[in-house]
Amino acid sequence: MAHKDRLILVCNDDGIFSKGISALVDVAKEYGEVAVVAPDRQQSAVGHSITIMDPLRATAFELKSGLMGQAVNGTPADCVKLAHDQLLIRKPDLVLSGINHGSNAGINIIYSGTVSAATEGTILGYPSIAVSCTEFNEDADLSGAQEAAARAVEFVFSNGLPRGITLNVNAPAGPLKGLKWTRQADSRYTDEYEARIDPHKRPYFWITGRLEILDDSEDLDINVLKQGLGSISPIQYDLTAYSVFSALSSMKV
Ligand code: MN
Repeated sequence: MAHKDRLILVCNDDGIFSKGISALVDVAKEYGEVAVVAPDRQQSAVGHSITIMDPLRATAFELKSGLMGQAVNGTPADCVKLAHDQLLIRKPDLVLSGINHGSNAGINIIYSGTVSAATEGTILGYPSIAVSCTEFNEDADLSGAQEAAARAVEFVFSNGLPRGITLNVNAPAGPLKGLKWTRQADSRYTDEYEARIDPHKRPYFWITGRLEILDDSEDLDINVLKQGLGSISPIQYDLTAYSVFSALSSMKV
C-alpha cells in the first residue's frame, strides 16, 4: 500500500492543545494521511471510561500551529469509537495515541487514557500504538518519543500485529538512545494522597505518590526507561489470568 493510501487516526488524552499530539501527527504524516479525533480538553487518567449519559459532540478545529481535526467532548476511548463509527470517511489502517506527557509504564497503563485510546483501536480491529514521553513537562524534547513512535509504526506496517495486541511505547525526553522490547512492570503507588486543610477548615486530599516497583527484572518497561532507553511492550485487553486458568479449570468450584 502506498503511503498516501493509508489513513492514520491520531488521538491522545492530553487534548488537542497539547504539544504531544502535534508531535505525533508530525510522525504520522510520514506514513499516510492523518485524521485527528481527540478530546477537546485534558483527559489524563480517565482509563477506558466512555460517555453513556451525555451526548457527544465533535467539532472541527484548526489551531494556529496548523493542527486540524475533530475535537470531541469525551474521553479518549469515546474519540476512537466515534471516529470508527461516525467521523471517518474510511476505516483507518493504524491508530496512534499520544504523545502523552508523562510515563505510561508499569501500573500507569491501567489508568492511562492514552493507552486506552490505542486499546480501543485494537478492540475495533485496527493495529494500534500508544506513545508516551516519561517527562511530564510539556516543553520536554519529544524527539526520542517521536523516533520510537516511527520505529513502532514501521514495525507494525512491516509485520502487522496479532489480533488483540496493542503496542505500548515509552521514551525518555531527548534523543532516543535505543528501543527495547519490554513487559509491564508489576508496580503500585505508595504514599498516594497528600492531606490538606481548606480555608473552611475541612480536609481535602490530592493525589501525589511514588511508584514502587515490585520486580527488578531487566526486561521491565520501567527499568529499561531508567537506563535511559525507550521501551516497547506488547499489551492486551484480554484480562484473563492465563497463568492460573488451566489449573483452575480442573478444580471443582
Ligand atoms: Mn495524559
